[in-house]
Amino acid sequence: MKDFVIFDMEWNMGYQPKIFQYQGIDQTLRGEIIQIGAVKLENGRVADRFSINLKPHIFPKLHHHVAKVTGLTQADLDVGIPIQEGLRRFMEWCGPDAVLGEWGLDDVPVLKQNMVLNGLSEEWPQQWYDIQRIFTSQKPRKEGEGMTLEAVVERLGIPKNEAFHDALSDAEYTAAICGFLNLEQGLQEYPSEEQQLHDLLCPAEKDRRDFTIWRGIVDGEVWTTSQELRQAVCPECGQPLQLDSEDIWLRKGNNCLYSMGQCSSHGPVMIWLRRMRLDGLRYTFARVTEPADQTLQAKWKKEKQAAIERARRKKEHEAAEALERVRNAGR
Ligand SMILES: [Zn+2]
Repeated sequence: MKDFVIFDMEWNMGYQPKIFQYQGIDQTLRGEIIQIGAVKLENGRVADRFSINLKPHIFPKLHHHVAKVTGLTQADLDVGIPIQEGLRRFMEWCGPDAVLGEWGLDDVPVLKQNMVLNGLSEEWPQQWYDIQRIFTSQKPRKEGEGMTLEAVVERLGIPKNEAFHDALSDAEYTAAICGFLNLEQGLQEYPSEEQQLHDLLCPAEKDRRDFTIWRGIVDGEVWTTSQELRQAVCPECGQPLQLDSEDIWLRKGNNCLYSMGQCSSHGPVMIWLRRMRLDGLRYTFARVTEPADQTLQAKWKKEKQAAIERARRKKEHEAAEALERVRNAGR
């Protein structure tokens, strides 16, 4: 097995959000890194450690909430290593081909955003894994069991000698959890982004077809306008589906959009779009179609009516508010 780096980071937040441009698209900065901790695993053993405090420049003032959670002080930040230099050192310590692991999926997006903002290559790291996901697949969660790092450490009986939310100790705890896993198998079975999207869109019990994928899309809202994404074809005959006449697409959660199309020969077909962004910078979009039986048609009709009704009420509400403002201004 290749060297495996388990890392954790703490980041500062602003009292005002920071918007930056990435390839012409506005992005909200999730946080500016103020601490990185990491351990290198060789044959399952900790072979090296890395720990660094960074001096932020976008959010130089330590947010009180971050101070409380991490125990870091403004003085710690002020004497930290300038962030660009610190990121470079971390990258060098890991090595260009390093495979990274983290608890959860929050750290890499923050890391990549910070790399971009500091003029470093966002192509690194190329490969990373969520240890929490591997843990869940090998030790399924039971009712009532928490999945935070601390909850899992406690459940496994790992001694809690260090404080949590310190980057190096969190990396060490995560490494200790790896000792309870078949890591090699976990990495081998780990689903790619494409596989994850496929699993979400094509559960075995549903008749979902023509799984199609688009990668590297910076603009997460492109699915509201892109003909390419929306224009699905009939899964039976390949004819372009005629899209809903009112062009209504409904949202399911934050990352799913769906509508009903029509094939002149084969009737109604549901179109599902899903997006996923694992690196904090670029989305992967996927689409499937599903021949719509009576149940699905009835469900769509109902949901569509409800959406139209919601939109109508919102418009009325806005009109009433605008009228109120005009009246108030006239007084
Ligand atoms: Zn057809």
